Amino acid sequence: MNFDEVYYEPDILNYELGKQLREQFKHLKWNEIESHNKIEQLQKSSNSDFVKLKRHLIIGTRKTHKYVPNFKISDFLVPYTSSGCSAMCLYCYLVCNYNKCSYLRLFVNREFMLDKIIKHTQKNKDEFVYEIGSNSDLILENTITGNLEWTIKNFANSPKGKLTFPTKFHQVDSLLDIDHNKKIIFRMSVNPNDIIKRIEIGTSSLDNRIEAINKMVDADYPTGILIAPIILVENWKSLYSELITTLSDKLSVKAKNTISIKIIFMTYSNIHRYINNDAFPTLPQLYDKELMRGRARGKYGYKDEIRFEAEEFLKQEINQKLANAKIIYIC
Ligand code: SF4
Repeated sequence: MNFDEVYYEPDILNYELGKQLREQFKHLKWNEIESHNKIEQLQKSSNSDFVKLKRHLIIGTRKTHKYVPNFKISDFLVPYTSSGCSAMCLYCYLVCNYNKCSYLRLFVNREFMLDKIIKHTQKNKDEFVYEIGSNSDLILENTITGNLEWTIKNFANSPKGKLTFPTKFHQVDSLLDIDHNKKIIFRMSVNPNDIIKRIEIGTSSLDNRIEAINKMVDADYPTGILIAPIILVENWKSLYSELITTLSDKLSVKAKNTISIKIIFMTYSNIHRYINNDAFPTLPQLYDKELMRGRARGKYGYKDEIRFEAEEFLKQEINQKLANAKIIYIC
């Protein structure tokens, strides 16, 4: 990551991680801010500055710690050590939350956040799964902060609960030798290479992602694959068929026998359309009025009949080529 400037809340220098980041990025210009949530000079930027904004690194402390019940992959979405991301997937859900200010923000009060999760696990009878990666990509973040290594080491002996996070990045080597006690569920998101190159800008290649899955499975992390988001570009059938062939060819035998698969279709929005039109005028348009229909709050999803066809196609491909993998979720 090639950051150009840091914006920081002065209080971060009272934290061990804040001091570490200060040293790590001492060659950059540091701009003092009152709050990571309100950097007026950046908020006033135009949509066409989106790429420029992504090069800034914001560092603060997380003040709100509200857990959102989630009835899908995990039990709770938990705010954790970062939000935003320095990659630029054209459909990134974070753009709906942060608009053009979806740059990477790091929060240095990690001790407080992990301690709160551990206390939450103990207060409840149930064995909950906590999604810690819904606001950012933690594998990417970890290459700067080491927060995942720190989290896994400090959570492995928690008597209850599990943590999970998804990623589109492959840099997992530093996690492989940690004693994780199977309490961290790793989820790798995959897409056809052509979609990764043109739409998931700045993320890892498909081959690197598959290699990371094999490594995590070998290291005994519970591991899942997200085929996500499904994007119905013109030649989607041949692209997704090729993707599933590649998974079948390159996943290890152990991975193929143990992984679960979740399939998630793309949601797009007017906010994406405005920003992408101004910031990436030459890149593919993801909105397709023939295939999509409007939903609440300016969002779009694929029409039911189109989606149904794609679902059936993907299920058939997976059943043929990855016969032992279990599809546990389609949405
Ligand atoms: S990697 Fe994830 S968080 Fe980062 S831009 Fe892409 S979708 Fe957003």
